[in-house]
Amino acid sequence: MKFVSTRGGSPAVSLSDAINAGLAPDGGLYVPERLPAFDLGGLGAESPLAIVAERVLAPFFAGDALEPALPEICREAYSFDAPLVALADRGVDRGDHLLELFHGPTAAFKDFGARFLAASFVRLQRADPRPVTVLVATSGDTGSAVGAAFHGRPGVRVLILYPDGLVSPRQAHQLGCFGDNVRAAKLAGSFDDCQRLVKQAFSDAALRERTPLASANSISLGRLLPQMVYYVAAALRHRGEVPLGFVVPTGNLGNAFAALLARACGAPIGPIRLATNANRVLPDFLANGDYQPRPSIATLANAMDVGNPSNVERLRWLFRDIASLRVAVTADSVYDPAIRTRLVEVPERYGVTVCPHTACGFAALERLRAGGDSRPYAVAATAHPSKFDTVVEPLLGRTIAVPAALAAMLVRPARAEAMANDYAALVAAL
Ligand SMILES: *Cc1c(COP(=O)(O)O)cnc(C)c1O
Repeated sequence: MKFVSTRGGSPAVSLSDAINAGLAPDGGLYVPERLPAFDLGGLGAESPLAIVAERVLAPFFAGDALEPALPEICREAYSFDAPLVALADRGVDRGDHLLELFHGPTAAFKDFGARFLAASFVRLQRADPRPVTVLVATSGDTGSAVGAAFHGRPGVRVLILYPDGLVSPRQAHQLGCFGDNVRAAKLAGSFDDCQRLVKQAFSDAALRERTPLASANSISLGRLLPQMVYYVAAALRHRGEVPLGFVVPTGNLGNAFAALLARACGAPIGPIRLATNANRVLPDFLANGDYQPRPSIATLANAMDVGNPSNVERLRWLFRDIASLRVAVTADSVYDPAIRTRLVEVPERYGVTVCPHTACGFAALERLRAGGDSRPYAVAATAHPSKFDTVVEPLLGRTIAVPAALAAMLVRPARAEAMANDYAALVAAL
């Protein structure tokens, strides 16, 4: 399998080269040159994630230098599960589910992609012996997942850029707690500013000559492809005639795009619904057919505060026109008051506590139910609520237990460098 740019102006490359490069030379995003058809024969509800992963990812690794290492990479990356939990709404079964993606070391779904990328990355054959710097912009959860996945790995440094004051206190602590080969910089700006500076660095040939860079943002294929796996596993675990649909809390569109890609490759997945927060670029795009990026707005679901989702380029590659896009996916935006309402209501009705991002998913699901949609859905629970204790706990009036891995990070000391919102500051830090 070869990979081509969404912009069509770069030569086809191997998977290893695509993972190494991050962005294609023409500024586009790497996508497979054709859609493979999954062979899921012999897999079932009991199949462990690592085994599903091997099968789902095999066509993308075919012919690459990493192909022989795929089973090992999968065992390393999928060492924890993504349980599909059936929910009853006040005792009534409406076909609602929770897909729990927060059982990794940093308690967000980003652990899957980051750990898979790191496991692949350290096995890449590289001509340049100098250490590589993984440069990553984060709206909160990517940075810590990447930090955890690369911490202590030889030959790799990590520089994380996050918007100062716009991530939760526990997210900030996590980002700064690694030390060693992982540095965190708090930027005086928004997530979009972080992303813009990172993109500028990747397109700066002179800088890359001096400092070998690698990407770990959701534009990286090494993060995108592994995110298909838990959707496929959930679809296989779901019992019932009607295929399971997903409601995916969405910011940069990496997680939801993986679901769309998995379905396009033949996974038995039902409707896919995006739930954004007040950053409503995607719902507006689907409604108007006109893509208008906007500055991001700070919301309670901060990891989705994205005004120009990078993976829109991949969306437009997969669905050539707005009509087929509208058939494939719908999107709904959820404002802060509705997030607050759901944060309180979801535990009362379903007996589970959710994070503000997952609450957006529940609000979107509730609107689908109100509109008469009775198909089975799983809301992707993108993070553990304890990461957003300052939002969730005052609303619920109780504390939320912290998962052990997160607790271990929170007792470590943390530090972040302050960084000005300009490119020279980033170059200096590199
Ligand atoms: C990153 C993140 C999202 C958004 O995922 P995208 O792939 O950027 O759409 C949603 N929820 C949480 C908790 C996240 O960390």
